[in-house]
Amino acid sequence: MVDVFSPAKRSRIMASVKSTGNRGTEAKLADLLRRRGINGWRRKATVFGKPDFIFRRERLAVFVDGCFWHSCPLHASRPKTNTAFWMKKFTANRKRDRLVNKELRALGWTILRIWEHELRQPESVVRRINHSLRKKPQARLPAKLRPGA
Ligand SMILES: [Zn+2]
Repeated sequence: MVDVFSPAKRSRIMASVKSTGNRGTEAKLADLLRRRGINGWRRKATVFGKPDFIFRRERLAVFVDGCFWHSCPLHASRPKTNTAFWMKKFTANRKRDRLVNKELRALGWTILRIWEHELRQPESVVRRINHSLRKKPQARLPAKLRPGA
């Protein structure tokens, strides 16, 4: 099978694919949280939409979205062949992301989505997480929807 991408492009694509939904990006964020002494999170919790990290007490769900699969506006590559297939896939991914956000919010969760590329600026990621942790989503919800109610 002849590769339709140039070697440089292929390696860029594979790099972003590989760092999606696996150890790569998530482990990076886990390291960052540990280094900064940010506690109270866990990974792989059985919560709707499978957030990469949750802070149960603060009811914060954190997703690390790979630039390739989630069509980051800065780094999403547009495959030149099978374009229709990929576009469909990306559209489906975005649609699922939106659905997950909506459902989780309805359940009282705060959602934080971090782009894979943002991990290159750890300061801003830490700021965003700390900011979200200070939010009190429960306070905005009707009593019957409050966590633990
Ligand atoms: Zn990106």
